[in-house]
Amino acid sequence: MTKALDDIRLRIADAARAAGRIPADIDLVAISKQQPEASVEAVLFAGHRHFGENRVQEAMARWTPLRARFPDVRLRLVGPLQSNKAREAVAFFDAIDSLDRPRLAAALADAAAKVGACPEILVQVNTGEEPQKAGIAPRDADAFIGEAQRVYGLRVLGLMCIPPADEEAAMHFALLKKIAERNGLEALSMGMSGDFETAIRFGATMVRVGSAVFGARG
Ligand SMILES: *Cc1c(COP(=O)(O)O)cnc(C)c1O
Repeated sequence: MTKALDDIRLRIADAARAAGRIPADIDLVAISKQQPEASVEAVLFAGHRHFGENRVQEAMARWTPLRARFPDVRLRLVGPLQSNKAREAVAFFDAIDSLDRPRLAAALADAAAKVGACPEILVQVNTGEEPQKAGIAPRDADAFIGEAQRVYGLRVLGLMCIPPADEEAAMHFALLKKIAERNGLEALSMGMSGDFETAIRFGATMVRVGSAVFGARG
């Protein structure tokens, strides 16, 4: 387990250097969804503190007790969020990486006002325009980012994407980077177990790695 974690850290550092970047500028988000408790604990004991989950309820069940033991854990929601769970999500997560529609922006703003804190927000872009996938369409991204920041006052720091499984990821990463640049956003969450090195070459500041850290999901 910690061997796998060490390997991924090394591969991130190598990919960063190969791209002329500084390894410390790339955050590893360990995606712990559907992983056994023992595997997650092993990664915690190895000192890792930045995790992602894709479902609100599962994340709360797992991380409420773990956070009591590891208070400096940072937790991101990387899966789709329903507006009616916005309040729970805002209260629980340090970051929400899947903002993709005005209704959810409104719900998050409302929740942030009630909770008295706003997590870091990433806008998810559906770079492949896949109908079954979450994310704002690329052509609507600029207007939506502006709306989320200025109308709803959300702390939008960057973008996230999940490229189509059957296409070259590189062009999707390049597109996400371009949208971020023209909107003055610095955080770029892109790249998973199979393609995080490519994502780093294209400017990822955060890679979301699940199975390559923990093993195949059960
Ligand atoms: C599951 C998941 C990951 C991790 O996928 P792996 O291929 O196991 O690395 C990354 N991002 C999101 C949004 C996910 O749902």
